[in-house]
Amino acid sequence: MRTSHYLLGTVKENPNDAELISQKLMIRAGLIRKLSSGIFTWLPLGYRVLKKVETIIRQELDQIGSLEIQMPNVQPAELWQTSDRWKKYGDELLKIRDRAERDFVFAPTHEEVITTLMRNELRSYKQLPIKVYQIHTKFRDEIRPRFGVMRAREFIMKDAYSFALDHQGMQQTYEQMFQAYQTIFTRLGLNFRAVEADSGAIGGNTSHEFQVIADVGEDTLVFSDSSDYAANIEKATALAPTNCASPDPNAKLEKIATTNCKTITEVSTFLKIPQRKMVKALFVKGKEHEVVALFLRGDHELNEIKAEHHSLIAAPLEFVDENVLMKKVNCPTGFLGPIALQEKNIPIIIDRDAAILADFCCGANEIDHHYINANWERDYALGEVADLRNVVAGDASPDGKGILDIKRGIEVGHIFQLGDHYSKIFNTTVIDEHGKAIPLQMGCYGIGVSRVIAAAIEQHHDNRGIIWPAAMAPFSIALIPMNYHKSHRVREFADQLYQELLAAGFEILLDDRRERAGILFADMDLIGIPHRIIIGERGIDAGIVEYKARNANNTQDIQRDEIFNFLSKVTLQ
Ligand code: ATP
Ligand code: MG
Repeated sequence: MRTSHYLLGTVKENPNDAELISQKLMIRAGLIRKLSSGIFTWLPLGYRVLKKVETIIRQELDQIGSLEIQMPNVQPAELWQTSDRWKKYGDELLKIRDRAERDFVFAPTHEEVITTLMRNELRSYKQLPIKVYQIHTKFRDEIRPRFGVMRAREFIMKDAYSFALDHQGMQQTYEQMFQAYQTIFTRLGLNFRAVEADSGAIGGNTSHEFQVIADVGEDTLVFSDSSDYAANIEKATALAPTNCASPDPNAKLEKIATTNCKTITEVSTFLKIPQRKMVKALFVKGKEHEVVALFLRGDHELNEIKAEHHSLIAAPLEFVDENVLMKKVNCPTGFLGPIALQEKNIPIIIDRDAAILADFCCGANEIDHHYINANWERDYALGEVADLRNVVAGDASPDGKGILDIKRGIEVGHIFQLGDHYSKIFNTTVIDEHGKAIPLQMGCYGIGVSRVIAAAIEQHHDNRGIIWPAAMAPFSIALIPMNYHKSHRVREFADQLYQELLAAGFEILLDDRRERAGILFADMDLIGIPHRIIIGERGIDAGIVEYKARNANNTQDIQRDEIFNFLSKVTLQ
């Protein structure tokens, strides 16, 4: 391709609404353009990258026998009403209406359609297991579209679905997909980790996210420094405290004035008691009770997902309004503790790390007062104890091997074992060997194809622009002739080399624009072409061209008749 005939949309200035490097570079390198909030056009250069990513995904999914299909994006509301996601999916679901006033959605995901399709297509257990996938547009009306294509409203996803006769079949397909994902993200040149993830409200309990490690990532990941343990913080647990009974009390329970000290920090500073020796209270709505009280160590944070999964707590998690609480306990938050709260008919759940404290400080259920030297059992009969907190760096790994460390990640893929949740709703069954109708065990598997590109740029760039991993580069080689429009010899040489390299199958961009050399170099660096060849008159006289790799500082001379061999070698790496 010649740049003179290309829509090379490089831009000097950073877009002023861009926060992330990847977002800035995608606009500046002319990969995408924003049409509206969270909605983007892919320019030719960006589209080439997108196709590269798609090809790798296709190859690896085809390799494990997954079948490519394409499902409609506009889907009748009835399907979503049947699965109850018409309401449950919330405002991210874009609802539309046709001329006959019938309701539709623009698909944010395709479980409803695939499960309906398979109900009719699958007849016998002999057809199982089966895996299908598509690479298609999705629309999610994100509350806060941001970071360009990283969190867009319209985006490209690869979504795959598997159907098996039993749990074991589902696990096997899940494992195949897991391995295919490992290969895909490795081939794409990403530094990533598969982490255990929360599987949400829908059946099954196995789910993994594929996370690209990056400081700008929205997800928090937890790793053991000495084992394979890795989990999203939503799911991560620390090793359970070993001595589940707390140490014996040492001192007498004492109520003391803590006037105007409402927060943990204020009380801790005022009483000179470390936060880890304090117990703090949080109040959430219960499944059956108006209020459920949660107690955690003062220095620990509530993990809302874990709380939401507790049988006493309502999902989605909602904190109780201060007024409601005031009516029930007649004491402002900040001064509430477990002792005496038990008489108010409020179920209490104690985090397991708070449950092993002794001689701790907590609210006294009286305005401007706290207890010190409180002790479980002596002062409050321990009831429900659960893991309610976020792990912190330095906690012991739950497998007993090593210490937990925390990093940020960008979720580029997510795989789930769904079980029979959707197949029961949509009656997607097959007849087994005994003639019995069995609801199928499903898996679903997503990759954010467009997000992958932004994530790759976050990991691969410098102050001059993008440095594409080889597999994603829109072109492999940039050919930059000096004075192409002034020097007849340069033009002839460049045109001929270009034709030869094209014929040999190289993906090559000849920069034949009437621009200063500095601009050509800067643009080729910005768009991140991995290899560049510079052609000048002096080189032609000496029978050489100059080569530079995008990620290297030095250049090297290549003999004219060595160019082909040399490029074959470096582009293979
Ligand atoms: P997130 O927590 O980031 O919102 P999700 O859990 O909603 O993701 P899935 O429903 O599992 O995502 O979708 C599969 C993949 O699609 C995700 O792993 C992610 O890579 C991608 N994805 C999801 N939402 C977006 C979005 N708004 N923009 C771009 N990619 C997205
Ligand atoms: Mg989401």
